[in-house]
Amino acid sequence: MAAENVRVRFAPSPTGYIHIGNARTALFNYLHARGTRGAFILRIEDTDRERSRKKYEETLIEDLTWLGLDWDEGPYIGGAFGPYRQSERIEIYREYLEELLCEDKAYRCYCTPDELEARRKEALAAGASAAYDGRCAKLSAAQRARFEAEGRPFTYRYRLPHEKVVIDDVVRGRVVFDTSLDGDVIIWKSDGLPTFHFAVTVDDALMEISLVLRGEGHLPNAPIQVLLARDLGFLAPGFAHMSQTLAPGGGKISKRRGGMSLREFRESGCLPEALANYIALLGWSPRRSDEVFTIEEAVSLFDVTQLTKASASFDPGKFSFVCRRHMQAADPARLADLAGPFLEKSELEAPDASYLRRVLAIARHRAEKCADFPDLLRPYLAEPVLGEEAMEILREQGALEVLEVFAERLQAAADTGEEALKAAFEETRERTGRKGRGLYMPVRVALTGTVTGAEIVEIVPVLGVERVTARLRAAIEAVAAG
Ligand code: GLU
Repeated sequence: MAAENVRVRFAPSPTGYIHIGNARTALFNYLHARGTRGAFILRIEDTDRERSRKKYEETLIEDLTWLGLDWDEGPYIGGAFGPYRQSERIEIYREYLEELLCEDKAYRCYCTPDELEARRKEALAAGASAAYDGRCAKLSAAQRARFEAEGRPFTYRYRLPHEKVVIDDVVRGRVVFDTSLDGDVIIWKSDGLPTFHFAVTVDDALMEISLVLRGEGHLPNAPIQVLLARDLGFLAPGFAHMSQTLAPGGGKISKRRGGMSLREFRESGCLPEALANYIALLGWSPRRSDEVFTIEEAVSLFDVTQLTKASASFDPGKFSFVCRRHMQAADPARLADLAGPFLEKSELEAPDASYLRRVLAIARHRAEKCADFPDLLRPYLAEPVLGEEAMEILREQGALEVLEVFAERLQAAADTGEEALKAAFEETRERTGRKGRGLYMPVRVALTGTVTGAEIVEIVPVLGVERVTARLRAAIEAVAAG
């Protein structure tokens, strides 16, 4: 396959929010297209009238864009092979249906869903095949006329050839299917719309898709689509069925069940480049030791033939690691925009933009996502609240003395540099006899109200001598009062 001929597509059905499994399909198609100077196409598969929603189409476009993907052809932007929404291509599919009907490769099936279900159960109970028995495949003219006169709704079925279908799958290797026990396939529903198999086969051919890179769940569909393509006079595309993405612990990720949706990651303030990086590692590992990379780097590293056959489950620990690495590298000015809504929700406000950038430059080293910022920034933006845990520490024998001596030393030195802080602690240690936790903890809780989070050496220079000593004195008063 010449590199310039690569055309791949992401073909979501807009029936829910996209989850990381869907996003991975989109991302791998994107990486393959960009890395080969091919075309990446977004196609909306909205022929399921009951379940498709415009809202989901809109949000999936927003979510993919947020993740950092763009595409060369698709709804809204158009392209030479449009339209890119299946609901706008019905006339095209109808032409191909007519073709199959003319060649007697498809027929009307009058069996109702209830009849089909009853027969299926019967067959299963008798230990027989549950495949469609083909009873409408050979109706006489009289039988057909009777059904028509009854006004029975009908579907169209494709006469599935019975043969061995060989698929040389880029991920799974050679897979051979035998269709000899399979029933004829519905390609057109009684609601006047094509089924998934038909629309996908026609679209992949007309849109000149070179490689169908999709989830493993679609592998059993491939032989039907290959045969259908052949009977429509098309060349079948190549296939790459990638392994499943599993939820943490191994369960299935489902967009209808909720959870793991791009929306949720986005709303938690996860950085999109971190999520894209982590998703890329699900079932693929770049040939280099550092697994933290930008999407641009992933483009140059990606090789579709390196996808693993084994399924990959979401690993929260690794995800957190990747997120932290990206957070550390994020520009504080950008973080200020992203953290804004989270701070607002917690009623925290920075005195000015440059102060906010300064504290974010520090706090980003402890954050995984923007939702972490309110807690991390609180010591810089609000006076500490001394809760029970803090008060207990401050009431310890000698704790107040530590605060007094430390405040005095700091004020005398009028310096918040690391050396000055060290010297102030050293002197406090000598004069109070307290050391280690007994020395640092009273100062930390007096400054922040908490036992975790930012370090004293990070906070003090930002707050400055005045605010630090004021907090130390307020803590002394609080203990004295209570
Ligand atoms: N619309 C299908 C889905 O959302 C994808 C079809 C395909 O990739 O061939 O699962």
